[in-house]
Amino acid sequence: MYPAGFKLYRPASLEEALKLLDGFGEEAKILAGGQSLIPLMRLRLVKPSYIIYLGGIDELRTIAVDDGMVSLGALTTHREIAESRVVAEEAPLLREAASVIGDVQIRSMGTIGGSVAHADPAMDYGAVLAAMDGEVVVASVKGVRIVRFEDFILGPFTTRLEPSEMIVKIRIPRHGNWLTAYEKFAVRPGDLAVAGIAVAIRLEDGIIAEARIGVTGAGEKPFRAYNAEEALVGAEPGDAEAYKRAADEVYKECRDAPSDERASSWYRREIAKSLTVKALRRALDGA
Ligand SMILES: Cc1cc2nc3c(=O)[nH]c(=O)nc-3n(C[C@H](O)[C@H](O)[C@H](O)COP(=O)(O)OP(=O)(O)OC[C@H]3O[C@@H](n4cnc5c(N)ncnc54)[C@H](O)[C@@H]3O)c2cc1C
Repeated sequence: MYPAGFKLYRPASLEEALKLLDGFGEEAKILAGGQSLIPLMRLRLVKPSYIIYLGGIDELRTIAVDDGMVSLGALTTHREIAESRVVAEEAPLLREAASVIGDVQIRSMGTIGGSVAHADPAMDYGAVLAAMDGEVVVASVKGVRIVRFEDFILGPFTTRLEPSEMIVKIRIPRHGNWLTAYEKFAVRPGDLAVAGIAVAIRLEDGIIAEARIGVTGAGEKPFRAYNAEEALVGAEPGDAEAYKRAADEVYKECRDAPSDERASSWYRREIAKSLTVKALRRALDGA
C-alpha cells in the first residue's frame, strides 16, 4: 500500500528542524533511516501530515568521545557504529549490538536515534544502553535535556519524547577496559531478538568488582538486571555456580516477558537465562 499524502520538509540545520517540529507538533513525524516509519506509513498505521527528513543535517552524524562518554549523533547508522574504530575501542558493547541488527540494508539505513525513538522492546541497543546507563540527549526550541535511557523508554513503542522534541544524541559511558559480550537469539538471522543479553564486568585483583547485565526482548522494555549483577560480585571468572546464580536471577527479573508470534513468555525467559551464561562465559573466558 502507498502512504497517505504528506508534505515533506528537508531542513539543513538542527535549528531549522526544531522550529518546524515546534510549529507542527503532533501532526509531524521525523524521518531518519525510514526502516520502521516507512512500513508503518505504508500500512497507514501512521498518517502524519508533515514529514521532517533529517538526512541533510550533518551535525547529527557524529561519533565523539567526551567527558568519559562516547557520544553518537542521532543520525549515525548502525553500520557506521559497527564499523567505527572509536566505538570498537571505547564502547565495544555498542559495536557488537550494532553488528547484529537486521541485515545489511537495515544497518546501512537505520539510525541509533530512530531505533531509540521507535522503542521496540526487543531493540538490540536496549540491552547495552540499559546495562551501561546510557543517556538520551533530547532537544526542542526551548533547549536541551538529558534523560537516562531506562527512564526515557516508558514501555513498548512509548517514550518520554514530547511532540516538539527530537533526539539529538545518544551517550554511553566508555567501557573499553571492561570485559564485555552481547548475546542475541533470534528465530531467523536478521530478525529482532527473542531476547538479548549484554554483560560488562570490571575485575579488581582477579575478582568481579562490578557487574552490569542488560536485557532486551524479555520485558515490556529493555532493563538492567540488578539482582543478577549482585549475584556475580565477589566471584572469580570461571565460577560456574556464580554464572548460574546470575542466570536464575535474570529469569526471575524477566517476569514481564511478552508472548507473541515469535516466542512465548516462558521461552523468552529460558532464552534470556541461557544467554546470560553464554555471555558471561564469553566475556570472562581467559580472564
Ligand atoms: C526487517 C527489519 C528488521 C529489523 N531488525 C532489527 C534488529 O534485528 N534489531 C534492532 O534493534 N532493530 C531492528 N530493526 C529496526 C531498525 O533498527 C530500525 O532502523 C530502527 O528501529 C529505526 O531506525 P530508523 O533510523 O530507520 O528510524 P525511522 O524509521 O526513520 O523512524 C522510526 C521512529 O523514530 C522516530 N525518529 C527517528 N529519528 C528520530 C529522532 N532523531 N528524534 C526523534 N524521533 C525520531 C520517527 O519519527 C519514527 O517514529 C529492524 C527493522 C526492520 C524493518
